[in-house]
Parts: sequence; C-alpha cells; structure tokens
Amino acid sequence: MPPILANYYLTYKCNSRCTYCDIPIKPENIRIKESQPETIIENLAALKRLGVKVLDFTGGEPLIYRYLPEVLRAAKSMGFFISVANTGTLYPRMAKELVGLIDDLKFSLSTTDRDEYKAERGIDGYEKVIESLKLARSLGERPSIIATATPESIWGMEPVIRLAQELGVVVLLGPVFDFCGNELLHKDGIKELQRLAKFDNVCVNWAFLEFYLNGGNQIKNPRCRAVSSTIVISPDDHLLLPCYHMHDERLKITHENGKSNLDELWRSPPVQLKRKAEGTWDYCQGCTIWCYFETSFLWPPDKYFLLNMKSKMRWGKEKAKQYVEAKTGLNLTRRLPGSKDKSVAKLPANPMSGVNQAAGCGTCPTAGASPESPSELVTPVEFSRKL
Ligand code: SF4
Ligand code: SF4
Repeated sequence: MPPILANYYLTYKCNSRCTYCDIPIKPENIRIKESQPETIIENLAALKRLGVKVLDFTGGEPLIYRYLPEVLRAAKSMGFFISVANTGTLYPRMAKELVGLIDDLKFSLSTTDRDEYKAERGIDGYEKVIESLKLARSLGERPSIIATATPESIWGMEPVIRLAQELGVVVLLGPVFDFCGNELLHKDGIKELQRLAKFDNVCVNWAFLEFYLNGGNQIKNPRCRAVSSTIVISPDDHLLLPCYHMHDERLKITHENGKSNLDELWRSPPVQLKRKAEGTWDYCQGCTIWCYFETSFLWPPDKYFLLNMKSKMRWGKEKAKQYVEAKTGLNLTRRLPGSKDKSVAKLPANPMSGVNQAAGCGTCPTAGASPESPSELVTPVEFSRKL
C-alpha cells in the first residue's frame, strides 16, 4: 500500500502550554529552524509523485507558521485533501485568508469551562475558540471540534456535545493516547464514549475504540502501518521514522534545481527496512498513538477495517447534515436534554430522553489526537475515491 497521508509538522512553536504536551518546550524542538515555503512546496510535489492524497498540516500550532496561506494555496492547487487542526486561539486574525483552503478545519476543545481551559492549556483562550467556531461557520467553512477524553474529562463531555449541537458543528470524540505518560481511559470510560457516540453531531472511530480496548498494537502481530501509510516531515525538512512520537531516525531531505528528493528517499533502503519492521519495536507494544492508526486500518480488510469504514460513513452523514443545515437553515439535530434550543421536538426521540445529564465539564489532552479525515462534504463512496 503506498503512503496515503503526510503529517507535515510546519512548526513546533505553540502559543499554548498544555499540561500533557512537550512539543513546544522540548530543547531539541526549540532549536529547530522552520523551512521556507519554497522547500515545503517542493516536498508537496514529491508527495504528489508518491501518491499521497491527504495532507495534515500540524505542529505546534500550525497557524503560527507565517507562510501557511502560501503553502495551503500550493497544496490546494495540487489537489490534496487538506486537514488543519489548531487551537482556535489564532484563527480569527487570519480566517479570511484561509477561507476555502482547508477541507478539514478542526479546533481543539474539550471543556466548556473557561477556567478549566486555562488550567489545562496555560492560556485564557476559551472565548477565542468559540469565536473561531462561529467565525468559521459564518465564512462558509464546516469546522469540527476535536475533544479528547481522559479518565477524568470523559465524565464531563456532554456539555461539549451540547455546545457543538448549538453551534451546528461535529465533535470528533476520542480517548487520550499513551504519550508523555498520559493515563489511558479505563474500560468504563470507553463504554461512556460508546454511549456518547449515539448522540447527534458526535463521531467516534469505532475501530480505534475496539483497538484501544484490545490493548493497542501488539509487537508479535503488529497492526501499525505508520511507515507504509504515513509520511512524517519535521519543520526543519527531515523525514522522521518510524513516527513523530517515537522517531529514532531523521533523514535529511535534499533539494536540487527546485526538486525535492523526498519520494526517492521514501523508496530508499533505510526507509524500506524501517517499513518492514513497523510496529515491532519494543516501544510499539500496546501503542495507541492515534495519528497513525486511522490510515493503518485501511489495510488489510479485517474487523478494524470494517469498523473504520462504519465510522467514516457516520462521519459522512453528520457532515452532510451540517451542510444541509447551513445551506437551508433547517434544524435537523436531535438536541441533548437541557439545550437552550428545543425546536426539534418533532424529530424522532432523542437517545438521551429520560437520562439525567452529567454535571460539570471536561478537560482534555488533545496533543495530536486528531483523525485526519477529509471533511469536505463527500459521500462515503467519494471519500473512498479520494483515499
Ligand atoms: S506502533 Fe506506535 S510507536 Fe510504534 S511505529 Fe507505530 S505509531 Fe510509532
Ligand atoms: S497539545 Fe497542541 S496546543 Fe497544546 S501545547 Fe502541544 S502543540 Fe500546543
């Protein structure tokens, strides 16, 4: 299977200081010099030659990278599907420049409590995220919220879902993964996620929940396809192997006469050797680093493949509903009890009817925990074609 996704780290800089993330404060990351846009655009051409379909521009906070619009315009003109997950705290100042350039625009948010947000992320940014969501909607974008559940925050996810329903956006809800010593979600937490997944505007990846419950990647029978399916590029123009989170090899990408050697580098023996061993190293035992598993589940066709497809169909349905609501002004969402807007009483019974609402709200580690699904309005069939 050729690589389908590139996780392009544009910068390691970030205006947040999340308690669970070391990307912006790691000494080796601080020293790194970001690439010029021409270098990145040459790499994009190489990714195109390799057959990559989806680009996930990430960081750090990707909106800090000053040439982001220029890079996005180039990526768009090459026909990539473009995903950008960001904090939502910097979006308002460049929203107009970004209109129409991002297929899958995601804002991280796992609490509706301003103080909890601040405690978690080190900045007072909650209102800015809400402003960003509203602004993106008013500009015709179809943004999503990424909410990552920890053993504590899972019990306060309902307010986030309610907020998403009121704003008319989709919530991508997933469990925290094992990185930076994060405590994983317990079985009861996963069950709660499965319960929340039934509500309107909520999308989970059923394959990943099952994988998580089954103990993650097993080195004797690895399910990880991190090297085969995903290309990871650092801000200073290196190919990282086998994945960002556990990379033990950094191969310099070279450029000559306006051409990047990234495609040749990916086919070279060092990368192919790494590819053959993906998911088998000691540190891969029990791995649930989500960033690589959505694409890993695209092959072979086993239960994870099927559950992954089921999740994409649900996501397609939710996105279609978001599109129709935005275009027609119709309200098709079955709101959670307690929502301000109860104008949907005519629709079929809400799955939460008769259930007490949980009090409080969540906090969340969201580092890198974002699915890289294209969010343009597409049918599942069109989506598969794009992949
Ligand atoms: S199993 Fe996890 S740590 Fe190992 S290569 Fe895959 S994503 Fe990286
Ligand atoms: S998790 Fe994301 S937003 Fe938070 S500090 Fe890390 S890079 Fe920044």
